[in-house]
Amino acid sequence: MNTPVTIIGAGLGGLTLARVLHVHGIPATVYEAEASASARAQGGMLDIHDYNGQLALKAAGLMDEFRAIVLEGREAMRVLDPDGTVLLDKADDGNGGRPEAMRGELRRILIDSLPAGTVRWGHKVSGTRALGDGRHEVVFADGTTLLTSLLVGADGAWSRVRPLLSDATPAYTGTSFVETYLHEADIRHPAAAKAVGGGLMIAPSPGREIFAHRESGDTLHMYVGLFKPLDWFAAIDFTDAEAATARIAAEFEGWAPELTGLITDSDTAPVLRSLHALPTRHRWDRVPGVTLLGDAAHLQAPNGEGANLAMLDGAELGEAIAAHRDDTEAALAEYEQAMFPRSAEAATFEGAEMPAIDSEANTARGLIDMFTEKAE
Ligand SMILES: Cc1cc2nc3c(=O)[nH]c(=O)nc-3n(C[C@H](O)[C@H](O)[C@H](O)COP(=O)(O)OP(=O)(O)OC[C@H]3O[C@@H](n4cnc5c(N)ncnc54)[C@H](O)[C@@H]3O)c2cc1C
Repeated sequence: MNTPVTIIGAGLGGLTLARVLHVHGIPATVYEAEASASARAQGGMLDIHDYNGQLALKAAGLMDEFRAIVLEGREAMRVLDPDGTVLLDKADDGNGGRPEAMRGELRRILIDSLPAGTVRWGHKVSGTRALGDGRHEVVFADGTTLLTSLLVGADGAWSRVRPLLSDATPAYTGTSFVETYLHEADIRHPAAAKAVGGGLMIAPSPGREIFAHRESGDTLHMYVGLFKPLDWFAAIDFTDAEAATARIAAEFEGWAPELTGLITDSDTAPVLRSLHALPTRHRWDRVPGVTLLGDAAHLQAPNGEGANLAMLDGAELGEAIAAHRDDTEAALAEYEQAMFPRSAEAATFEGAEMPAIDSEANTARGLIDMFTEKAE
């Protein structure tokens, strides 16, 4: 293959693709909007599953590097009622089925595994255009352009490559997360730290929920979920951290103080993340010379699978391209044939159907029943 593969987006999906291509001796260039690898904080902890994310890391030849960044003990899980009663307390069994690592660390090992210059930072794509015969023009925000005969959109939720394949756009799911952090929690917030435990803590209730992760050290990272329309959040001034925190916390009135403290004691200003999703069975007809992976292809509300799927997409696409070096279309067709059903099935949590946040089943008991059914 003479023409390098053009990948838009240096998220986990695009980087995994570039790495697997490199393992097979195929050149690729990744164009990334951000100015550098450290331009933006990379968010929280990800559990990397043995049935998707870890398969991708194996294909990338990076399992040793991955094991070195795993945060021990973080597979523990607790489910609490709003009054603080612990209904499930599962220790980390150490079997490594879904070890946790920080997203930034995972991204770093992928970037470090690529030849220098593979990622072109500060290249924001503003548009793409079909030229016929499987060739495409990519237009960057600074007005420069490039032509490519193999284009991969790995540019996330608001992909600029997706319009070449599909008219679909992400829609609001009805839920937003508000992110908070407690640092040095064991010493400064012992009750909250105890409630969260050693790994993941979930406290669900119809219309609202708190997810908390113990990250490196004793930092607690919370996603506070509320099922509310976008204009409800728009009426809150998130530049006034104190008032915004109070407004969000008011939705958890009556909850145990060790749980509401995860909101009110935050060491950082609350950050709003509105959750969008593409239609669950989003797909497209084959268009020569271009495809999508990860969130660009199948953005879903967070269910613990998105980053894992993006990495597996990248790995499988890389392997398909390597297996069909003289036939790009065969490679893209083979990749998409497996990717479409896989992502449709993954609209679940750990392989089971999550209760919708606004349903009456979104309770600690409902969640535990779901885990139990899955185990049987
Ligand atoms: C709150 C929250 C929690 C989550 N928790 C988990 C979890 O625990 N486990 C899990 O597996 N998944 C989780 N996910 C989902 C996961 O984050 C995504 O599915 C995953 O990051 C998708 O990877 P990607 O490579 O497809 O896209 P992204 O990670 O979005 O990467 C896209 C890249 O493209 C770049 N880009 C965007 N536009 C352009 C452009 N125009 N030009 C050039 N570059 C561009 C971006 O800067 C970015 O670097 C969570 C998501 C959210 C919102």
